[in-house]
Amino acid sequence: NEFAALGLAPRLVQRLAREGIDKPFPIQAATIPDALAGKDVLGRGQTGSGKTLGFGLPTLMRLAGGHTESRRPRGMILVPTRELAMQVHDALEPLAHVMGVSVKLIAGGLPYPKQIDALRRGVDLLIATPGRLIDLCEQGAADLGAVEIAVLDEADHMCDMGFMPAVTTLLDMTPKEGQRLLFSATLDNDVDTIVKTYLKDPVTHST
Ligand code: AMP
Repeated sequence: NEFAALGLAPRLVQRLAREGIDKPFPIQAATIPDALAGKDVLGRGQTGSGKTLGFGLPTLMRLAGGHTESRRPRGMILVPTRELAMQVHDALEPLAHVMGVSVKLIAGGLPYPKQIDALRRGVDLLIATPGRLIDLCEQGAADLGAVEIAVLDEADHMCDMGFMPAVTTLLDMTPKEGQRLLFSATLDNDVDTIVKTYLKDPVTHST
């Protein structure tokens, strides 16, 4: 199994195989080893390229087995829309489960109380749209001070939709030394600014 050769845990590899996923797509073969090595990654991937697993698998590997005492989130995946947040959540949740990583979807248009309760109980990984996550941080319900891996998915779309200020505010709340993975189909001005400001010597992969 070629996923095992990339350095993923056997139980993760087995769970993927159950879905018939046993051969990495190019973006996965390219990004997973670098992300597992702790490097910042810039991925130029289109929808359908398999980028969700490209950032999701290394994120789960990093979060497995190490809860903070406070159970503050240690991982954050930002996406532009609620629909995409749901897709990413549905793709990663079963994989997170086998790794003992708890995941919560934080998105606009969904009721606040369940999101606030989950944050209070403690959650390892947030999959979020920027606006709602900012709200929850401002209310004191979410604390990003323990985030050690942050992913920006469809960064170009987030910028197009006016989320650049929210995205940078959220990144500023995470520790500077954290790992960052950014995926984008294009690298226009705003995305380039984020890359230059928030990624450390990123490894770039295109598909
Ligand atoms: P994404 O670009 O991440 O939205 O993935 C597109 C689709 O490809 C999803 O339905 C995934 O389940 C599927 N997929 C991702 N990686 C693989 C793989 N290595 N082998 C087979 N299917 C995959």
